[in-house]
Amino acid sequence: MPTLKKSAPNTAKKPAAAKKSKPAGNAKLAERPRPASRKSDAPQRGDLAPERIAAILKALDEAYPNAVCALTHTSPWELLVATILSAQCTDARVNMVTPVLFKRFPSPAAMMQASLPELEEIIRTTGFFRNKAKSIKGAAQAIVERFGGKVPETLEELITVPGAARKTANVVLGVSFGKAEGVVVDTHVFRIAHRLSLVKGDTAPAVEQELMKILPYEKWIDFSHQIIHHGRQVCLARSPRCKDCNLETICHSKDKTWQS
Ligand code: SF4
Repeated sequence: MPTLKKSAPNTAKKPAAAKKSKPAGNAKLAERPRPASRKSDAPQRGDLAPERIAAILKALDEAYPNAVCALTHTSPWELLVATILSAQCTDARVNMVTPVLFKRFPSPAAMMQASLPELEEIIRTTGFFRNKAKSIKGAAQAIVERFGGKVPETLEELITVPGAARKTANVVLGVSFGKAEGVVVDTHVFRIAHRLSLVKGDTAPAVEQELMKILPYEKWIDFSHQIIHHGRQVCLARSPRCKDCNLETICHSKDKTWQS
């Protein structure tokens, strides 16, 4: 997944970046020592210790006790379509498009009959609209013809639906059916799992496998929701707001912009 590789934090850290991220005019912050730097965020000795993982999960529970999927939906089918549309697009943008889409095509049976130009016109603002239109029409057809009109409830079946790769399948299984067959790894989970030195893989599937090994099974679903919120609100890609982060004392990422 090139986008994930692109967003991985393993880029050279320049001292200037730390200066730039400090709030302007705050002399006290300017006097603080530079964040401890590492050459790499890859896990080192002790990073995967159960007590450290538990501390990270506890901090996430405290910061995001009610983290849920931000994609608006009323059924597994709607969530499947919304998740397909969310690739390279914000959830907020998808949430603007899906009410129109589902009003016009309220079921998989209706959507499989849609013309591609009409679908493209409705979903245009989500980007990559031609491919996405083909995917959701193909998904509708698969759901109707192979799964009796119902979204399947296993990863094995879901990943055969057009447009539904592992990440999409994990989202639908976790959110709609409460089933964890894997861990959702989107761009936020990929980036922050590296920054927290939990993983070293350079692809989403590799990171997912690592997370599945180190996270308690019962946290597989919540962890992704919480990290996605953390990535949107605090651990931003370009300039993480470390001084507002309750994981700051546990994190020793080379991307840190502030250190207590
Ligand atoms: S301390 Fe900074 S880099 Fe580490 S998790 Fe928090 S916001 Fe992200």
